[in-house]
Amino acid sequence: MNTIKQISDRVFMLASLNAGSNVYLINDEKPVLIDTSLSLNSVKLNELLSKANLSKQDIAFVLHTHGHADHWGNSFEFSAQQNFMHKLDAELVNSERDDFAYASLYHLKNWPKIGNKFEGEQILNLGETKLHVLLTPGHTAGSVSFYLPELKFLFSGDTVFSEAAVGRTDVLSGNFDSLKESVLKLSKLEIEALFPGHWKELVSLKANQENFRQIFSNLNLGSGR
Ligand SMILES: [Zn+2]
Repeated sequence: MNTIKQISDRVFMLASLNAGSNVYLINDEKPVLIDTSLSLNSVKLNELLSKANLSKQDIAFVLHTHGHADHWGNSFEFSAQQNFMHKLDAELVNSERDDFAYASLYHLKNWPKIGNKFEGEQILNLGETKLHVLLTPGHTAGSVSFYLPELKFLFSGDTVFSEAAVGRTDVLSGNFDSLKESVLKLSKLEIEALFPGHWKELVSLKANQENFRQIFSNLNLGSGR
């Protein structure tokens, strides 16, 4: 089964078939990875890069949706200055807080150093691509999502998934009320394709609207948008 997919001219996906997160590659002037999964997917990660004729040295930035280890298992191979994460999660990762990140659960020994910290919302200029960093706390206090307005692609980390599911909040710095706010916020975007941190992507505006409707009813949020 092929787990590496080209989604658009510039966007590639490593669909993880195990506990490691999905990994996304946006191949523009400044190529970026979104999350790096677990070390057991390091070979697949190299295949993802090869698919776009890139190697690790070509990657400008590694952007993390949040600080759980299943999303950063290969990030130690990139320098602190390449690694980005929201500061609330980055501080816990930089101080190797295993009760937050669960590195030992995933048998990871190599913690990354995060040199760049998101604070507010911002737009990252990758060349043609303008990637919007959205604050979506709840699963963790420093969870972020990434949005590509031109393509209406949302990379949602562990905030929302494609099967009407949301991230768990019974973890350190998790907060269910914040998660609900974040889901409401994301539901107001036009989303042509949802690329979550785990499991399948969801393509089509209508399918995504239906997905949010399901999430709202599961969370007792009323009709939402
Ligand atoms: Zn997580």
